[in-house]
Amino acid sequence: MDFTLSEEQLMIQQAARDFAQNELLPGVIERDDAQMFPAEQVKKMGELGFMGMMVDPKYGGSGLDTISYALVMEELSKVDASASVIVSVNNSLVCWGLEAFGTEEQKEKYLTRLSTGQSIGAFCLSEPEAGSDATSQKTTAVDRGDHYILNGTKNWITNGNSADIYLVIAQTDVSKGHKGINALIVEKGMPGFVIGPKENKLGIRGSDTHSLIFNDVKVPRENRIGDDGFGFKFAMKTLSGGRIGIASQALGIAAGAYELALKYSKERKAFGTEISNHQAIAFKLADMHVQIEAARHLVYKAAWDKDNGHDYDLSSAMAKLYASQVAMDTTVEAVQIHGGNGFVKDYHVERMMRDAKITQIYEGTSEIQKIVISRSILKK
Ligand SMILES: Cc1cc2nc3c(=O)[nH]c(=O)nc-3n(C[C@H](O)[C@H](O)[C@H](O)COP(=O)(O)OP(=O)(O)OC[C@H]3O[C@@H](n4cnc5c(N)ncnc54)[C@H](O)[C@@H]3O)c2cc1C
Repeated sequence: MDFTLSEEQLMIQQAARDFAQNELLPGVIERDDAQMFPAEQVKKMGELGFMGMMVDPKYGGSGLDTISYALVMEELSKVDASASVIVSVNNSLVCWGLEAFGTEEQKEKYLTRLSTGQSIGAFCLSEPEAGSDATSQKTTAVDRGDHYILNGTKNWITNGNSADIYLVIAQTDVSKGHKGINALIVEKGMPGFVIGPKENKLGIRGSDTHSLIFNDVKVPRENRIGDDGFGFKFAMKTLSGGRIGIASQALGIAAGAYELALKYSKERKAFGTEISNHQAIAFKLADMHVQIEAARHLVYKAAWDKDNGHDYDLSSAMAKLYASQVAMDTTVEAVQIHGGNGFVKDYHVERMMRDAKITQIYEGTSEIQKIVISRSILKK
């Protein structure tokens, strides 16, 4: 077993680390405060190849492996989890799904724009009454021969307003249940497509989350991904890979908070010595270190499974479940180690604590990950 990263992976990791320090760190507090989308930074990430990391270079992608993607996600998330979720959705939920299941025409038309960052993608599954229970789709795509008529509302959509290409899951044939669901490519500006209000969130405030409303939107048939009825499978397959992205995001938030807490503990003095010399603080740091390393191994294993053609439904669910718990635990302790300073914005850890929470909710809550995991282990 070889745990060494390749030269190329180390280079990409360093590039992401440099980008995070030089381009994301300045202004991260202000963007969080103002709920400001990092448009300039996303453009630069497109130029660096971070928006289509695993996409074939013939469609403008970087042609890298999932481990490299996880490394980049970790480094970006150490500093700015709002920026990293934009990257994760674009890479895992939009580019990957299009490349794996789209037609050649769809890839040429949409994938190149998405993987170079010229366009931003959004993945639209959740609805007011269909979150964890994603089969309860109320959005309908009525088949009218050469086009579909799309009606309904999607909730909580990341990149909701910043995106220009949307993968929308909708029910075509109710009698077929989840086998009657389709995935359609919808473009911003299609008549009847309305962007709803922006959510005012606890964390990842720099990413824009919106509801989307579809009123008789005419979507050409050639915009359907896969065969008729493939939409639910498409969503589940795509989310399985997406969980590696969110697990890496959680890992990065935890690692970022840990690094800040470690540094602070060696500088801050109480009772005549650095607080790291108090065993209560040193043990917190020890626990954080072990948990982060364990999360990292789960994340890399899931990425490795995907890269090597193994099933990764179980490993990605385990990585997300565990890494998101570590993100919560570590950020709470990082605030504690910072004392009063942890409670104010300047020291970053309070933002990280707020950002960490979402990793236990989106792309399948922790409870849903446990359903995936328990089903998998019980069927063996
Ligand atoms: C900031 C943000 C960004 C998001 N981005 C996107 C996006 O880009 N695209 C998209 O499609 N969606 C997105 N979502 C939606 C997200 O995926 C859902 O919020 C999530 O899947 C949970 O669904 P829900 O909110 O309806 O909660 P519910 O499904 O109502 O769950 C409520 C609670 O009940 C629990 N629960 C539900 N069913 C079970 C069960 N069977 N067993 C045990 N517990 C259960 C849940 O775990 C949770 O604790 C986003 C959400 C947020 C907050």
